[in-house]
Amino acid sequence: MFLAPPPDPEKRLSLSDTFAFSCHSGLSCFNQCCRNKYLPLTPYDVLRMRKALGLHSDKFLERYAVYGLDPASGFPILSIRMDDADGRCPFLSPKGCSIYQDRPMACRLYPLGRSCRPGRNGTSSEVFFHLLDTPHCQGIKEDRVRTVAAWQEEQGLLPYLEVNDRMLGLLFHPKRDRALPLTERQQQKVLVACYNIDVFKEFIVKTGWPRSPDNGNGPLGSVMENDSALLAYGFAYLDQALFP
Ligand code: SF4
Ligand code: SF4
Repeated sequence: MFLAPPPDPEKRLSLSDTFAFSCHSGLSCFNQCCRNKYLPLTPYDVLRMRKALGLHSDKFLERYAVYGLDPASGFPILSIRMDDADGRCPFLSPKGCSIYQDRPMACRLYPLGRSCRPGRNGTSSEVFFHLLDTPHCQGIKEDRVRTVAAWQEEQGLLPYLEVNDRMLGLLFHPKRDRALPLTERQQQKVLVACYNIDVFKEFIVKTGWPRSPDNGNGPLGSVMENDSALLAYGFAYLDQALFP
């Protein structure tokens, strides 16, 4: 999810480009698209969803996540576990998405796709949007038109994109030898610090990491009370643990 190849030049949309889309229960396709999909989970998705469901991150991952390895980066990647019997998303209800306020980034972006080209220091230097190929979706035939920038705002995408791009900083870390896949131990560290945030919190309590009380992310006490700050701590930890 972190890094999809850029779309063909003629398909690229900038923030000021417009597209038509509206999704509502009056459409014949309503509730038909949330099934049989590969739906990636980013670290920020997991953080929000496990909180919305009132679950420990370990329990959330056990129930709802499928693990894989990104062939391009060797980093662990997670996706939503669809129902074995009918392929439905476990959060789909007759009225639509049961976790709508905390739905994952991919669902917020839809019907758009987003890809980044990393800069030399690992940050995303170029971002491309494009319309996904969704012939079954009636929403793209609706009249409501807005810009890509307005869609980002409307869908509350900005914090999701920010964390996603922070993840890119790890994938393309200047000290990383991209020819070498992550070791199992490194993969484990990524899983804990980025996705299993409650276990990471327990790790901090147990080990007293970091040695310095302020690791550039604020005092430890306030970090422990704030999920986003904890995730920033996780990235800082991985910076040190993976690329000392
Ligand atoms: S999380 Fe919600 S919007 Fe996303 S696929 Fe599942 S039901 Fe649909
Ligand atoms: S197919 Fe498109 S319009 Fe239909 S429910 Fe899904 S997102 Fe909405």
